[in-house]
Amino acid sequence: MTATVIDGKVFAAKVRAQVQAHVTKLKADHGIQPGLAVVLVGEDPASQVYVRNKHASTVEVGMASFEHRLPVDTSEPDLLALVKSLNSDPKVNAILVQLPLPAHLNSELIINTIDPTKDVDGFHISNVGLLGTGQKSMVPCTPLGCLMMLRDHHGSLAGLNAVVVGRSSIVGKPMAQLLLGDSCTVTIAHSRTKDLAAVCRGADILVAAVGRPEMITGDFVKPGATVIDVGINRIERDGKNKLVGDVHYASAVEVAGAITPVPGGVGPMTIACLLANALTACCRANGLPEPEGLTA
Ligand code: NDP
Repeated sequence: MTATVIDGKVFAAKVRAQVQAHVTKLKADHGIQPGLAVVLVGEDPASQVYVRNKHASTVEVGMASFEHRLPVDTSEPDLLALVKSLNSDPKVNAILVQLPLPAHLNSELIINTIDPTKDVDGFHISNVGLLGTGQKSMVPCTPLGCLMMLRDHHGSLAGLNAVVVGRSSIVGKPMAQLLLGDSCTVTIAHSRTKDLAAVCRGADILVAAVGRPEMITGDFVKPGATVIDVGINRIERDGKNKLVGDVHYASAVEVAGAITPVPGGVGPMTIACLLANALTACCRANGLPEPEGLTA
């Protein structure tokens, strides 16, 4: 069997078009333009690329983009003051502080200072609690993108066995909560899980968020299962730099029923969901209906 490839680029383009159409309508009907503020501290090269892409994508869908680039030695009080000023700025509906922050800054304190209704990444402790208790929240972008692709592929997820490998607060745990919210039977696996391959082989839906290149091979996959590869790993192979996932694609694609590639799977969905979240935050702030199909 060769799996159906779930094309994240095509799906993300669809989501962005939906967001753009909604933004156009918001402007026409209500004179409202959603605004996303991104804060970058320091000059981490990967973060700079992400922030540049986020800015371009935000403008492309017709939202206002506010970029704040601060020097690496920015003090905590100065960063907190900026976050507070964005909290009270009515033009800003969504705030993203690019992680990782330099070591002298307390990331938790900074993130928990963002107004939870503007916390477009869904990392604020209030949003974590709301998601955990099945209430309306801002949902982390990467797991939201995975959920959208799974719903699109399967329709209902109810009753399916889902295994999430990885228990981080930004991917693994919220992913598990979302799958539970859609009535999957969920297992969270991690570095201390015994016989990981056997646990994974019980999965109708297998989500890999491990950060280890190509660790999940075809023999971890139940025939016909849907495999979502969150991993982004830069490796060197045959003298060339290459991007690979946490799943060993060549072996998994022969066993799975459906699979996301790397690159071109979960990655593009993450930025699309950032835009969707910014739009959702704007609609909620203005007491307007939320965009259909773009929330959890
Ligand atoms: P973390 O390093 O925070 O978490 C990794 C998780 O994997 C931990 O829970 C860890 O377990 C578990 N793990 C590590 N080694 C093993 C192992 N040998 N067996 C089983 N479990 C293991 O990573 P993130 O969640 O932040 O990211 C995961 C991956 O997703 C990375 O490749 C990252 O680059 C990618 N990513 C991609 C995004 C996208 O947009 N596509 C966005 C965010 C992340 P333990 O807790 O026991 O240590």
